[in-house]
Amino acid sequence: MANRDDVSRELGECTECGTVYAARRWPDGTIKAIGSESCQCGCTDFALVETDEETVPPNEAE
Ligand SMILES: [Zn+2]
Repeated sequence: MANRDDVSRELGECTECGTVYAARRWPDGTIKAIGSESCQCGCTDFALVETDEETVPPNEAE
Protein backbone atom coordinates (compact mmCIF):
# COMPACT_ATOMS: atom_id res chain seq x y z
CA MET A 1 0.00 0.00 0.00
CA ALA A 2 3.03 2.23 0.03
CA ASN A 3 3.28 1.96 -3.71
CA ARG A 4 0.38 4.16 -4.62
CA ASP A 5 1.03 7.15 -6.78
CA ASP A 6 -0.75 9.86 -4.86
CA VAL A 7 0.81 12.67 -6.81
CA SER A 8 -1.73 14.27 -9.06
CA ARG A 9 -1.08 16.43 -12.05
CA GLU A 10 -2.36 19.95 -11.66
CA LEU A 11 -1.73 23.51 -12.67
CA GLY A 12 0.13 25.76 -10.31
CA GLU A 13 0.09 29.52 -10.34
CA CYS A 14 3.01 31.47 -9.00
CA THR A 15 1.89 33.41 -5.95
CA GLU A 16 4.24 36.25 -6.83
CA CYS A 17 3.80 36.91 -10.54
CA GLY A 18 0.86 34.73 -11.49
CA THR A 19 2.64 32.63 -14.09
CA VAL A 20 0.94 29.26 -14.50
CA TYR A 21 2.95 26.08 -14.73
CA ALA A 22 2.17 22.44 -15.09
CA ALA A 23 2.55 21.27 -11.55
CA ARG A 24 2.04 18.40 -9.21
CA ARG A 25 0.21 18.33 -5.96
CA TRP A 26 1.77 16.16 -3.33
CA PRO A 27 -0.24 14.34 -0.67
CA ASP A 28 0.78 16.93 1.90
CA GLY A 29 -0.73 19.68 -0.23
CA THR A 30 2.50 21.08 -1.60
CA ILE A 31 2.31 22.40 -5.15
CA LYS A 32 5.48 21.99 -7.18
CA ALA A 33 6.06 23.04 -10.75
CA ILE A 34 7.08 20.20 -13.03
CA GLY A 35 10.62 20.45 -14.35
CA SER A 36 11.58 23.36 -12.16
CA GLU A 37 11.85 24.00 -8.47
CA SER A 38 10.87 27.61 -8.84
CA CYS A 39 9.16 30.15 -11.02
CA GLN A 40 11.02 32.32 -13.51
CA CYS A 41 10.76 35.11 -10.95
CA GLY A 42 12.46 32.98 -8.34
CA CYS A 43 9.40 32.35 -6.23
CA THR A 44 8.87 28.80 -5.04
CA ASP A 45 5.32 29.16 -3.81
CA PHE A 46 2.57 27.99 -6.12
CA ALA A 47 -1.16 28.03 -5.68
CA LEU A 48 -3.33 25.29 -7.10
CA VAL A 49 -5.31 26.28 -10.16
CA GLU A 50 -8.61 24.48 -10.40
CA THR A 51 -9.34 23.08 -13.83
CA ASP A 52 -12.10 20.98 -15.28
CA GLU A 53 -10.02 19.64 -18.13
CA GLU A 54 -7.24 17.10 -17.96
CA THR A 55 -8.86 15.43 -15.01
CA VAL A 56 -7.86 11.82 -15.16
CA PRO A 57 -10.02 9.24 -13.44
CA PRO A 58 -8.05 7.44 -10.74
CA ASN A 59 -8.32 4.11 -12.48
CA GLU A 60 -6.88 5.50 -15.72
CA ALA A 61 -3.97 7.48 -14.35
CA GLU A 62 -0.85 6.25 -16.12
ZN1 LIG B 1 6.66 33.95 -10.43
